[in-house]
Amino acid sequence: MKDDLEKIRAAGRYREISYLESAQAREAKIEGRSYRIFSSNDYLGLCNNRRLKQVAVEAIERFGVGTGASRLTAGSNSLHRELEKSLAHFKKRESALVYSSGYMANIGVISSLANRDSVVFCDRLNHASIIDGIRLSGARLVPYRHKDMDDLEAKLRRYARRKNLIVTDGVFSMDGDVADLQGIIHMARKYHALTIVDDAHGTGVIGSEGRGSEEYLGMEGHIDICIGTMSKAMGAEGGFVTGSQEIIDYLRQTSRSFIYSTSPSPASMAVSMESLEIIGEYGYKRLELSQKGKYLREKVKEIGLDVLDGETPIIPIVLGGEQAAIEYSSKLMDHGIYLSCIRPPTVPKGSSRLRVTLTADHSYEDLDLLLECLSRIGKELGVI
Ligand SMILES: *Cc1c(COP(=O)(O)O)cnc(C)c1O
Repeated sequence: MKDDLEKIRAAGRYREISYLESAQAREAKIEGRSYRIFSSNDYLGLCNNRRLKQVAVEAIERFGVGTGASRLTAGSNSLHRELEKSLAHFKKRESALVYSSGYMANIGVISSLANRDSVVFCDRLNHASIIDGIRLSGARLVPYRHKDMDDLEAKLRRYARRKNLIVTDGVFSMDGDVADLQGIIHMARKYHALTIVDDAHGTGVIGSEGRGSEEYLGMEGHIDICIGTMSKAMGAEGGFVTGSQEIIDYLRQTSRSFIYSTSPSPASMAVSMESLEIIGEYGYKRLELSQKGKYLREKVKEIGLDVLDGETPIIPIVLGGEQAAIEYSSKLMDHGIYLSCIRPPTVPKGSSRLRVTLTADHSYEDLDLLLECLSRIGKELGVI
């Protein structure tokens, strides 16, 4: 461990935790100082929403703070049942199942549906929890180039067997682009594969009703299994999966991270349910968010920085080397801007980046301040 830690330090990859001393918001306190936060996934600013806090308090008053048991023993209450109904309805599926996090949902769903006889085709940029789920399942993992349907088809031709799964992020967490669901559905039909979309960053954020990447692309109901999280735009905590009654029944009986874990808390369940309502009402906030995203992307480009194209509030500014990204990020901190850098192994080597995430609550003043600092520091570091 000592050697490994030393290596991590020497490579400049030793990570420190920042502790917020106030609620998650566009502005928050860290070590007594105020920062504009550009690194949360609180896309709609719901983490500290008054209405949701009220609902949490009511749920705690009625159901307590902990559930004290797992879902299949004494740990299910009516909130779990109602939320699962609401989630199924929201994603236009027959049924849904709630997990204690999106990570748990991914490992639980994939390891339950795939086994040693399966082949799982996986976009190279899929989230770590998808990779972990595949590893846990014992299935063969076949990665394909990011959003490259020709490569996916070549891999399907070569490796497809009796049980095939194609898994993709709906919105890619580090690049901020949207999956080619149409292409994937086409491939899945042609080569007999089950499809899974993990819409952690799509839920609440894209699609006119906020139902995610499927709605955004006009493909609702075409993907077999939709996974999501309540911990990003929904402002709460927990993960979920939606699909046909049969699939959800199967998962309820076999999915180990669902069965062998204490059920998620009453407050999280009640907040998530209310949050689905708010998401429905927040069409105008999604519009604002998308406009702010467009504005920032354009202006960052004008400064001369390398920003990846995309349509989501995830705006990656690719710098390349890890050291440059670390320095940039730490200088931004000095200017009161919290924008964490992302480096390997989270992203491929040589593509270290500043990953801006916007919330609908960011003001144009916030964005202009960020732009001014990006420009000044970029010049200081000789990046632009
Ligand atoms: C954040 C994330 C998860 C994990 O969700 P949590 O609820 O935070 O555990 C899963 N998949 C993707 C694509 C994510 O970005």
